[in-house]
Amino acid sequence: MSALLEVSGISVSFDGFRAINDLSLAIGERELRAIIGPNGAGKTTFMDIVTGKTRPDSGRVLWGEHFIDLVGMDEARIARAGIGRKFQRPTVFEAQTVEENLHLALRNPRGPFAVLFSRRRPEDAARVAAIATEIGLAEELPRLAGELSHGQKQWLEIGMLLAQEPRLLLVDEPAAGMTPAEREHTTALLRRLAEHRAVVVVEHDMEFVRRLDCRVTVLHEGRVLAEGSLDHVTSNPEVIDVYLGR
Ligand code: ADP
Repeated sequence: MSALLEVSGISVSFDGFRAINDLSLAIGERELRAIIGPNGAGKTTFMDIVTGKTRPDSGRVLWGEHFIDLVGMDEARIARAGIGRKFQRPTVFEAQTVEENLHLALRNPRGPFAVLFSRRRPEDAARVAAIATEIGLAEELPRLAGELSHGQKQWLEIGMLLAQEPRLLLVDEPAAGMTPAEREHTTALLRRLAEHRAVVVVEHDMEFVRRLDCRVTVLHEGRVLAEGSLDHVTSNPEVIDVYLGR
């Protein structure tokens, strides 16, 4: 598998504390990857660096077949380059329907009042339908987003990210707060999404990670502690020590 994202030797300190410590990690095209690790391991900071929110003190973040270094690029440009990030809290437009939310995402309006005057373009209807099917919300298109369940809102937000056609999606704790049925839907959705783009999932819930059935990277103290199948990494004595806090 050729690497789509290759993070090489990145470090970043906050007030002298090394949150990321010479971290190297590669994600392949259409790979599904889980990143786990105890609190403070550097998972959020890693995503902040990849998306341009935090600039590393050193190291490179190489992107795509031309190995473009994303370090120093602003967040909007990195998003346009094809990296989408799903935060934990859904931020859909609650007073708009699912369909309107997807139309809005396709128009990608800018500015706080964009929602007021940019609704839909007829030529986007087919893409809206395709995205709604991909996220499993085709039946919910006429409903107000505010009436959706927590899980459905999360899927809608993923759909809104898909409108930007990312080649890499970073997803922060997708299963948090979900019912068992929603978690199952989310597992299937993430696996399906990774058939067409790379998906990196940061997750605490081991049972959820097990169901994703993908390569796992364990972060600890800002570096990679172990990588491989979940069974492989969880049988690593260092990983066991870290999780049991010894
Ligand atoms: P995780 O997401 O794995 O829980 P984080 O990336 O949030 O870990 O944090 C890694 C470490 O860096 C933590 O010790 C955290 O307190 C510290 N940290 C993260 N961001 C900042 C910041 N902006 N200022 C100071 N310390 C930070």
